[in-house]
Amino acid sequence: MVKVIPKNIRAIIFDLDDTLIPTRKFIEPRFKQIADFLKDPSAFGELVSLWEEKTSKYPYLFDDFCKSRGLPKDMVVKMVKIMNSGETFEISLDPDVKSVLSYLKNHGFVLGLLTGGNLVRQKAKVKSLELDRWFSSVMYAKEYSSKLSSAPFKAVVDSLGVKFEETAFVGDDPVNDMKPPKLLGAFCIRLYGEEFSFDRSCDFSDLEINSFNELREIFQGV
Ligand SMILES: [Mg+2]
Repeated sequence: MVKVIPKNIRAIIFDLDDTLIPTRKFIEPRFKQIADFLKDPSAFGELVSLWEEKTSKYPYLFDDFCKSRGLPKDMVVKMVKIMNSGETFEISLDPDVKSVLSYLKNHGFVLGLLTGGNLVRQKAKVKSLELDRWFSSVMYAKEYSSKLSSAPFKAVVDSLGVKFEETAFVGDDPVNDMKPPKLLGAFCIRLYGEEFSFDRSCDFSDLEINSFNELREIFQGV
């Protein structure tokens, strides 16, 4: 495991969910809305437990929930709609995260963002978090394909005018955030976020960190 950041790094590209903001901060209020919609307060706890068990990578969370409750299948569509709709969301960046991003930007690094997931939802999150203040480029993987392909990674690196060898990627998913950029030559930093922290194996990271704050020290000497 490499512990030193290459001196030629000029750009840092971040994942959004569970990297810049805990997924729980977004997902719990949505589950609360779904429970209100169903007029069933116990739905909230059940959805949280299901999500904790399956992670947000699991595509059948609401299908499983509806099946276990004997709810009709068309409820899944309604629940997904509640998850994703909204011009903005009541979410904000942690002051420590803001401080680290400002430090890195002021230190001369070009910052980019690459996020996967539902386009409408992720765009509303980016707007709500006012990420334009820090990021020179914001890319949505779904506009290309997904984070399983190299296309969105190439797009965000190109948009910043740098090479992969000059770029560090920071993300929490040990595969989706790390594998494509690693294979393309970037330096990959895995953050142990809440969702995937159980998975301590990662074949594609150069450095692993437990908190976003560690980035300040890591990039200090670059
Ligand atoms: Mg993530």
